[in-house]
Amino acid sequence: MLDRLMQRYGKRSVHRCPVCGSGTLDHRTILWKDLIEAWELTPEEANYMGRQQGELCRNCQCNLRSRTLAGAFLDYVGYCGTLQEFCGKSRQARAMHVLEINEAGGLSPWLKRLPNHTLAEFPDVDMQALPYADNRWDIILHSDVLEHISDPILALQQCYRTLKAGGAMIYTIPLIYGRLSRSRRGLPPSYHGTPGIEKSGWIVHTEYGADFWLQPMSAGFRIISLFTLSGPESLAIICRK
Ligand SMILES: [Zn+2]
Repeated sequence: MLDRLMQRYGKRSVHRCPVCGSGTLDHRTILWKDLIEAWELTPEEANYMGRQQGELCRNCQCNLRSRTLAGAFLDYVGYCGTLQEFCGKSRQARAMHVLEINEAGGLSPWLKRLPNHTLAEFPDVDMQALPYADNRWDIILHSDVLEHISDPILALQQCYRTLKAGGAMIYTIPLIYGRLSRSRRGLPPSYHGTPGIEKSGWIVHTEYGADFWLQPMSAGFRIISLFTLSGPESLAIICRK
């Protein structure tokens, strides 16, 4: 079934970039041998994870993960143009209170144009203890952050607490959909980022699999849905409060 999905959608992400509107892509190799081995990825998994991280829009340089997050965001707010257009000239965007937790891939330069945008960055802000009042945000965005958090359910509870009723948390995680999630506790440390540079914030605590939805559900979210641009290698998770 998953193989059929991949065949059906596998080449369809070459449509208009949700961030800038361009239609041309570049490919860069992002994953490295030690990471692939620590993660125990099959060649197929390494291939789609490589596309997610390294298939770049030639114009705005956003990778498939960032473009998927932008697509989910625009779909959620019901806007038909690009993120660039939405953040630049939409009245709806100006009224929206958006929390971005660590820079959300390549979307940050556009999100920063929103007057009610806040960027919360580690280590100044700990996602497990957000310094914001309850019911503050319309939308919370984070991209490939949760796998680096030691208590991800606590972090998701903090997102839930600070979202307005009816608001949404929209996020991505590196997701291997053909297996279940596992903690790396007791395993040799694995880092994302740049090979050979081992920053404490980039250590991986959780490798996510098909049961990823249990965490936002445990944190209180009642509606959890998926958005894709091109198939299962391009997934954004939308959780409604
Ligand atoms: Zn683009």
